[in-house]
Amino acid sequence: MGSPLEQYADIVAGRARARYLLARSVPVELSPDLSLSRMWELHDRGVEEYRRLADSDSKPTTPSLLDLKLRIARELFTACCFCEVDCRVDRRTQRGRCGVRTPRIASRFFHMGEEEPLVPSYTVFFTGCNLLCAFCQNYDISTDPEAGEEVPAGELAAQFDAVLGRGGRNVNWVGGDPTPNLHYVLEVLSLARASIAQVWNSNMYMSERAMSLLDGVVDIYLTDLKYGNDACAERLSGVKDYWRIVTRNHLLAAAQCEVIVRHLMLPGHLECCTLPLLDWLAGHMPDAPVNIMAQYRPEHRAAEFPELRTRLSRSDHRAAAEHAKRLGLHLI
Ligand code: SF4
Repeated sequence: MGSPLEQYADIVAGRARARYLLARSVPVELSPDLSLSRMWELHDRGVEEYRRLADSDSKPTTPSLLDLKLRIARELFTACCFCEVDCRVDRRTQRGRCGVRTPRIASRFFHMGEEEPLVPSYTVFFTGCNLLCAFCQNYDISTDPEAGEEVPAGELAAQFDAVLGRGGRNVNWVGGDPTPNLHYVLEVLSLARASIAQVWNSNMYMSERAMSLLDGVVDIYLTDLKYGNDACAERLSGVKDYWRIVTRNHLLAAAQCEVIVRHLMLPGHLECCTLPLLDWLAGHMPDAPVNIMAQYRPEHRAAEFPELRTRLSRSDHRAAAEHAKRLGLHLI
């Protein structure tokens, strides 16, 4: 086994190119009248070609696999299935559960508080979210999709060179959650030129279609694995079938590129959530670095849930860390 984030380190050091630039090197046939199913066929063939492509072969072409991904995302946007809430609304005129129509950005800056291999991390905070977590630690932006500002895709893409020049190691797409803004991220990447790693910082409740569109674009998934069962997810975040969906997406992510798993421990959820999800990680993704986070604060609607009214106990955090070490997980 290599070091956990070897491929990402190669991109940061300039020894390899960011994946989205490789996706831009794969030619596809893209005529105006293609059906969605035909576009998916071409997409899946393009992804196979992408996997065969050596970094040294990567010369930009048009139309490319990245152009095709953007076109599919724009079509999915008109009956939105970016995440498993699966609203099927036309987001040009309607809002789904996340409330996001045109992507809006609350802030973007060099974040120095992320995991050490990621900083400085140029972090883009979208407003709105597809999950409704009672304890959201970012509720000021996640619950107000109209906050922030619209930023033209070309403006953000043009900043990538400056981000690299100022020592940025990656562009970190977060929110809220980046998933409702998938089409926008692909548009930015289709206009960008700099070889800078792309971090998808998400609750991982996206659809399989969204995971396919991210394949060949994302360099690191920075995942937020919240719960170890469906009942807690439904009670605290209002989503169904959580465990099947997020474990499926973690496995898909690990097949695409490198993954860092975050888990924000919740008070009173050691036995039902933290320990089971650590067991699952040890059995299915033993190489992924894991960050067990202890900084929970009672925020947003936490007071409605008795166990969430306090901070996390040190003994619970210690028990989780010891359990992870016994399982051989790589804690960061
Ligand atoms: S991103 Fe998810 S929650 Fe938002 S409209 Fe699309 S399917 Fe619904």
